[in-house]
Amino acid sequence: MSSLVLPCARCGRQTETSELREGRCRRCRIEIATEADRAELERLLGKQRRYSGRAVPTPALERQLDRVRRRLVDRVREVLPPGEPVEPAVAELLEPPTKTARRTPGGLVLP
Ligand SMILES: [Zn+2]
Repeated sequence: MSSLVLPCARCGRQTETSELREGRCRRCRIEIATEADRAELERLLGKQRRYSGRAVPTPALERQLDRVRRRLVDRVREVLPPGEPVEPAVAELLEPPTKTARRTPGGLVLP
């Protein structure tokens, strides 16, 4: 059985139609669903980088980061089919922008 492949309406990547929703590939749907959370995460990570040079504990900031990460994971989970592991999709999503960012102790916290 050959599966039908169409370009994604957003990024143009050739995608199996089973992966397309409203003409968009999974990656694009995840990006759209997490847009606000990724922007928030970037903002908080920038703040964390500015603080990291000082010897000030920032528990409030850590809590905020944790909350945004959890929300982001939930949004990714909503896009993925039931039973699909969320971690690889989240890692793929966060890898490029956070590559230069300082990793928090323990890394990404998944609920
Ligand atoms: Zn796409």
